[in-house]
Amino acid sequence: MFATVRNAPLYSHGGGLSESRTLQSRHMPETDRDITIYRADWVLPVAAPVLPDGGVAVSGGRILSVGPAPRLVAEHPDAAFSDLGRAIIMPGFVNCHSHVEYTSFRGILDDAEFGDWIISLVDVKASLTPDEYLVSARLGAMEAISSGITTIADTSYGAATLEAGGAAGLRGRVYLEVFGVDDSRFDETMADVVRRLDQAQAAAPELFDVGLAPHAPYTVSSRLYQAVCDLARERGLKVMSHVAESQDELTYIRSGSGKFAHDYREKMGWERMLVQPYGVTPIKYLQQWRVFDRDFLAVHCVNLTRDDIRILRDTGVAVAHCPKSNAKLGCGVAPLADLLHEGVRVGLGTDSPASSNIMDMFDEMRTMLFLHRAVERDVSVLDAQKCVRIATLGGAEALGMEAEVGSLEPGKCADLIAVDVSRSHFAPIADPYSALVYGANQDDIRLTVVGGRELYRDRVHMGADADAIRSTAVAVREKLQDRVRTGAVEIGGADSGWWQTPAHREETV
Ligand SMILES: [Zn+2]
Repeated sequence: MFATVRNAPLYSHGGGLSESRTLQSRHMPETDRDITIYRADWVLPVAAPVLPDGGVAVSGGRILSVGPAPRLVAEHPDAAFSDLGRAIIMPGFVNCHSHVEYTSFRGILDDAEFGDWIISLVDVKASLTPDEYLVSARLGAMEAISSGITTIADTSYGAATLEAGGAAGLRGRVYLEVFGVDDSRFDETMADVVRRLDQAQAAAPELFDVGLAPHAPYTVSSRLYQAVCDLARERGLKVMSHVAESQDELTYIRSGSGKFAHDYREKMGWERMLVQPYGVTPIKYLQQWRVFDRDFLAVHCVNLTRDDIRILRDTGVAVAHCPKSNAKLGCGVAPLADLLHEGVRVGLGTDSPASSNIMDMFDEMRTMLFLHRAVERDVSVLDAQKCVRIATLGGAEALGMEAEVGSLEPGKCADLIAVDVSRSHFAPIADPYSALVYGANQDDIRLTVVGGRELYRDRVHMGADADAIRSTAVAVREKLQDRVRTGAVEIGGADSGWWQTPAHREETV
């Protein structure tokens, strides 16, 4: 059922860089002293061919020029020079879907199938305090940086990501999560959304913006879903939602039955609300509410019909592909080749450590490539270069951030990483794309720069106490396990829906 994308364009911007010329930004710094030149054996601009012995000149948080290193040095003799040696400099990864505040849940529900996993997650989520969520988010933000992610599109209920991501120096967007199927509480739910949105926008650090996330078609009523999307349009905000992820979701939307109609609604205290069978796929269900447009990011999209794909194409919706999470939870494999073939913007997401354990975009690229080749029984369906593009510029396009990030081009933000390829598992290197996708992992990151600021170099987090963040997060997990042991949290038990907790009741009554 999948098409190949053999002839899809790889370079969407500009005319490409050659060794004979250097592209320069229009923004010129006062003197060479404001410039840093990063050099490595290879530079992968993504939007242009690979440069051997390449360099990237950075100034004022932006990329000034990309070209052969000797030429950049000759042009800026007084610039600071950082030679990363046998390394690959490339744009930082754009992680199109994460929940960094769930980092403390890593490995907690490794063998649950999707429906049980999400039901158990309700209990786990209810058991952390806001401070503990912040600790968890800090660990996630730190892991993102040390694994070469420079932009995250994170989904969060309490916006802990804004504080953690901002403090860590990441760039990104936080989509505020909205739940609710009880339309008798519509007004108070919307008032709460507006209040949280105002708060989050006021608190957003410089490199973050805020969007809205109606969680999924099975956790948000159609009326609330439309109202949240209308609010986003009014305020010019982006929208994200988990869509067409599992068979349970399909059964719920089509037939009004299954695990989400029964167990999940009971867990959330929604069992008295009417469930309507809509008889259509989740994509068609959402399309009728006119919530789809270019600002909508549909996360997962595992279960799509050909009609669904055409709807995504025609409405301009972008997709966040999370191959490891979908595979681990037994959901399936999204029809990536068809989506790309139809010109749908697709980015790559790690999802949360509660589902995919690590936020390693190399692992995610490799899994994506292997899964699709295995399913298709066709090696031409995806190659290493396309994987790198999806994990960088493709993600930026899916988020509407391609003018700023996703490739190394003059004028764009200086968000770049260096991958150390000096170790034996990389020798020899014929093609740097191959080295990145087939050989690298997050431990090979040597340098992470966001907006010209070095956040991580040679295993050291600049300006952050990594050991303290790690040990505090481990302590949160131990406290959670204690609560489970003493019966304060009953994983999988009934009536512990998270907004039925005392803290939530105080807030909403
Ligand atoms: Zn998610």
